Amino acid sequence: MAIIIRCGCEAVYEQIEIRVTEWVEDSADCQVCGYVLHSWRGHDMLSFNLIKNPTGYKSTLACTVAPPDRVSRKS
Ligand SMILES: [Zn+2]
Repeated sequence: MAIIIRCGCEAVYEQIEIRVTEWVEDSADCQVCGYVLHSWRGHDMLSFNLIKNPTGYKSTLACTVAPPDRVSRKS
């Protein structure tokens, strides 16, 4: 089930609850203004998809995983 979250900066997120087996403690910041949208602890992880960006700026902050090319290779 998805819940719609609106940040103070007018960004709109779809909040998705994911049940996980491990105990998690984390929080999510607004990708536009940095305000903490939500924090959680327990067995339910929250995921936020930005569905409306008031600035029109395409954020790259959602991608936190380093690209595989960063792995150093010995030539
Ligand atoms: Zn915001």
